[in-house]
Amino acid sequence: MAELVHEASPFEQVNVLFDRAADRLGISDDLRELLRMPWRELRVEVPVRMDDGRLRVFIGYRVQHNGARGPYKGGVRYHPQADLDEVRALASLMTWKTAIADVPFGGAKGGVQVDPAELSEGELNRLTRMYTQNIAMLIGPTRDIPAPDLNTNAQTMAWMMDAYSRLHGHTPAVVTGKPVELGGSYGREAATGRGAIFALTSWARRAQVNPQGMTMAVQGFGNAGYWAARCAQEAGLRVVAVSTSKGGVYDPEGLDLDRLSKCYKETGSLAAYEQGDQITNAELLALPVDLLCPAALGGVLAGDNADQVRARVILEAANHPVTPAGDEVLNRKGVVVLPDVLVNAGGVIVSYFEWAQNFQEFRWEESRVNEELWLRMRQAVDQVYDRAQQERVTLRDAAFIIAVERVARAVELRGFV
Ligand code: NAD
Repeated sequence: MAELVHEASPFEQVNVLFDRAADRLGISDDLRELLRMPWRELRVEVPVRMDDGRLRVFIGYRVQHNGARGPYKGGVRYHPQADLDEVRALASLMTWKTAIADVPFGGAKGGVQVDPAELSEGELNRLTRMYTQNIAMLIGPTRDIPAPDLNTNAQTMAWMMDAYSRLHGHTPAVVTGKPVELGGSYGREAATGRGAIFALTSWARRAQVNPQGMTMAVQGFGNAGYWAARCAQEAGLRVVAVSTSKGGVYDPEGLDLDRLSKCYKETGSLAAYEQGDQITNAELLALPVDLLCPAALGGVLAGDNADQVRARVILEAANHPVTPAGDEVLNRKGVVVLPDVLVNAGGVIVSYFEWAQNFQEFRWEESRVNEELWLRMRQAVDQVYDRAQQERVTLRDAAFIIAVERVARAVELRGFV
């Protein structure tokens, strides 16, 4: 059985977690069917005229999983493996994440199967506009609000907003994670990483663990990973390893993140960082650290490598970095896993603030954004922690129980079933 689960697709893996929560809550078969499957899925061709005059056709998706609690919400990723199953899994995770964070959104996700490193800036601009145009009938400020994810950023959101606004008039609230100059929120860029550290410190307070001086390894040095590492250092942790797709660096004395970031921006890798040891991503996952923070791809800790983890705590800044089989191994080893749907909710929480600010045509100071993010993260962690204790389940199962309960209630109240 464990073998079967290990080999399941990402969407099936999320549904293993959903089913466990639905079992506990006694959700009826009818409602279960409705909650499990996405509400709507769109596949589009994205033709792009390349700089050399050739036409390349990419495939894109937008999946809307559940909208009972509010407009659909979820990022857009550019990645060669962003297929329909992965986008479904991520859309479903967004439904549960927005419910746990208690922001008034449903769950969605988008993806384009492309390696953006192969495209010029102009090609990426054209790809983003064409993708936006082709999903424009589904999105909108009260319908579905995209945001950045893997390999997309504030610039991508600016292009999306512009493409949508050309069709519908100036509409900043159609996407979040925009540049501040175009209606983005202060603090949104850092929000996922900062929220992850707020989740860690909130959990540590409840579990009576002192995070000060903990050593930390971070896989991925993009938006989520960089800011998680930065905020961890500010909170008194020692970041000893980080990595990118090309490998990482480990220095038990601690890393200079500013220098690493400069090196990554200038050379596209961390290889030129002269202190510490160069390591592979597999080595990073097995380092002797207190805290391991996967902040890149999904499925990196599975049944066949989770046993090598030496960290005591896993902080899931990435989405679904641990498979159900990996989870089982980590639970058996007594490793505490702080789950993605809780830990990386800071991104969607500040996206909610950005969206609300756009409607009000008003801007909050960064200090207010961070304060409100802290309050919401702490509340969500407290609720998950309490539920885990009451039900004697893991934090991941407790998070799913709360989420499924909230979404099921909204579906029933609206009279869908
Ligand atoms: P990003 O594109 O900004 O950065 C991704 C980083 O991961 C890069 O440093 C890249 O080199 C590295 N990476 C890529 N492939 C890798 C591999 N095979 N091994 C190791 N590292 C690899 O992306 P991001 O926005 O930081 O997203 C990272 C994760 O966080 C994703 O799982 C995403 O879904 C999740 N997440 C992001 C946000 C957000 O607001 N950006 C919110 C919630 C969750």
